[in-house]
Amino acid sequence: MTHSIGRQSQPNDWREQTLKYDYLVIALGSENNFFNMSDIQKHSFTMKSIGDAIILRNHIINILEQASLEEDNKELRKSLLTFVVVGGGFNGVETVGALNDFIRESIIGYYKNIYVTEVRVILVHTTEKLLEQIDEPLGKFALEKLKARSVEFIMNSHVIDATANNVKLDNDNNAIIPCYTLIWTAGVTPNKLIADLPCEHDKGHRIIANNYLEVLG
Ligand SMILES: Cc1cc2nc3c(=O)[nH]c(=O)nc-3n(C[C@H](O)[C@H](O)[C@H](O)COP(=O)(O)OP(=O)(O)OC[C@H]3O[C@@H](n4cnc5c(N)ncnc54)[C@H](O)[C@@H]3O)c2cc1C
Repeated sequence: MTHSIGRQSQPNDWREQTLKYDYLVIALGSENNFFNMSDIQKHSFTMKSIGDAIILRNHIINILEQASLEEDNKELRKSLLTFVVVGGGFNGVETVGALNDFIRESIIGYYKNIYVTEVRVILVHTTEKLLEQIDEPLGKFALEKLKARSVEFIMNSHVIDATANNVKLDNDNNAIIPCYTLIWTAGVTPNKLIADLPCEHDKGHRIIANNYLEVLG
């Protein structure tokens, strides 16, 4: 076991300890999966931990400050006020809903020189159905609710590349969306320690278990 000493962001030192145990429970959770798209990893925000949420919230406030100052360059102002979430699963849908409310309520409350009509909050999803893990009517219900709150949807599309100020899609004409906020909620993969354990795994590196949740063999 390794833990840091001192400030969390700039530890002074690391300490390693060995613990004895009778039973070891491994419950390390999943990690973000960028499918080897390093530019997307570099330029996107993630939404997996409280820390991620705080970083994103601070970024949004900073972006609204920048947009409120930007009166001359209309294109820049437009891209600052465009927010893209990738992934129409639980995480993406929950994130896009909260993000949309947060941005619009902040503008109404604090940014008198920004119109909510200038804001674009876009969700990009690979298929034509939202929340595929649940019953179809519930997915449609979520889609309609979010549309009514002005969230835009780009379905049947993948985000395939990103820079600090734009996002590239794989749809018909490789559309480019100028924006300074890309949030990646489009994939998870097991912790490396799980993936490396010497037992049978599926294609996504998950351990294969039987009906009693026992590891095969
Ligand atoms: C934005 C968001 C919203 C969600 N909303 C819901 C919801 O409404 N309802 C719901 O049921 N689920 C929800 N989920 C899913 C839910 O959070 C996960 O399914 C759940 O947390 C998985 O639990 P876990 O214990 O497997 O992993 P985690 O909760 O990820 O816990 C794993 C822990 O292991 C630690 N760890 C990793 N590696 C090591 C290591 N080498 N040594 C020691 N510790 C380590 C990690 O730091 C972490 O604290 C949501 C997820 C997200 C991202």
